[in-house]
Amino acid sequence: MSSRPAVTSARTVEEHRERVERLLRPLAVRDIEKVETPESLGRRLAEDVRAPVDLPVFRNSGMDGYAVRADSVAVTPVTLPLAGVVAAGQPGQTPLPPGAAMKVMTGAPVPPGADCVVPVEDTRAGDGSVTIERGRTAGDFVREPGTDVRTGELLVRAGTQVAPRHIAALAAVGLATLPVFRRVHAAVLTTGDELMPAGVALRPGQIYNSNGIALAAALTANGVEVVSVEHSTDDPAQFRERLTAATGSADVVFTSGGVSKGDFEVVKDVLAGLGGEFGSVAVQPGGPQGLSVADGVPILSFPGNPVSTMVSFEIFARPILRALAGLPPVPDDDVPLLDPVRSPSGRRQFLRGRREAEGVALASGPGSHLIAAMAQADVLIDIPAEITELAAGSIVKVWEL
Ligand code: AMP
Ligand code: MG
Repeated sequence: MSSRPAVTSARTVEEHRERVERLLRPLAVRDIEKVETPESLGRRLAEDVRAPVDLPVFRNSGMDGYAVRADSVAVTPVTLPLAGVVAAGQPGQTPLPPGAAMKVMTGAPVPPGADCVVPVEDTRAGDGSVTIERGRTAGDFVREPGTDVRTGELLVRAGTQVAPRHIAALAAVGLATLPVFRRVHAAVLTTGDELMPAGVALRPGQIYNSNGIALAAALTANGVEVVSVEHSTDDPAQFRERLTAATGSADVVFTSGGVSKGDFEVVKDVLAGLGGEFGSVAVQPGGPQGLSVADGVPILSFPGNPVSTMVSFEIFARPILRALAGLPPVPDDDVPLLDPVRSPSGRRQFLRGRREAEGVALASGPGSHLIAAMAQADVLIDIPAEITELAAGSIVKVWEL
């Protein structure tokens, strides 16, 4: 058998995405894990959560004021003897004597026998008494137990992506842990002799490794748990060793670099040797793509140019990863172009665009190294393969970044 990499003819974006989906679909495991409530932000609830207690937990005051019986304050002004003070946190079980008032703070128990609270603003404190200047009807400013949610009622439905408002409700009923779906675990492995981590001074010929961090961020933002972000030089032995570590810890591995037509294409050389498929997709940027399985784990190999890596993630990985995480699809829209564009024939092009009130402007030139310019973009402009020129004003599809 030849050790030359298998090279297939150019596929369309749709064909390649379909292949990626087939490779990753088995990751749709529905395992459930328990996480502490504060860690549940952004996770998907695996089961319905029911309230283990009533909310409010007990009958309490909605105002700082005086707990009374409504019939004691039917005619105002009226001066009532003060029978005590109840602060929040006190058990508040002393009954209200008939015809008296008890001072209560917001959230404090309303004493048995009282049926309403007169806000402090409508009263005048006396010496051992209080003058009520405005009457109230039974129930005013009394929060009854279970009027928000009752014990056993549904609090948050299975499948919900936990947002701060859900955490507020789950914390209010005292739940310390929650059942959530396990996320897909991904490892990121970048390649290149020239790449350095942040914090070191660059020597001639070196650049900072941005793809590792960027891919990890993109994965995290789309419901994936990143278990490792590692780097390999272009030495095949080192790459194979780091790949083994990655496949040993993750459900899927994302590599960057080393897949095009240069002399030291470590990813392609090693993975094609293991049966991986490396070929060209009719797209710009992000033409060279690889799909492999090593140690039983699917591997997506993206080209190294930083914009190519990000666009590859957006168009090939993000849709299926969001579906696996139960997240809504990537939003798209049809909007007028504010600038004219040119596009290569036979290749679908994804330009970086910036949304404005009247349409979408170009945020960058087409170069796949222009990563700083990509920071100004908030959409990808999708130019179909057969289009070579579009005038300003043409309607284009955009995908939210
Ligand atoms: P490659 O696909 O390995 O030929 O890399 C293509 C271009 O992308 C080269 O200019 C690399 O220096 C650059 N590149 C590759 N990997 C990274 C990375 N992890 N971070 C930043 N730039 C990269
Ligand atoms: Mg390289």
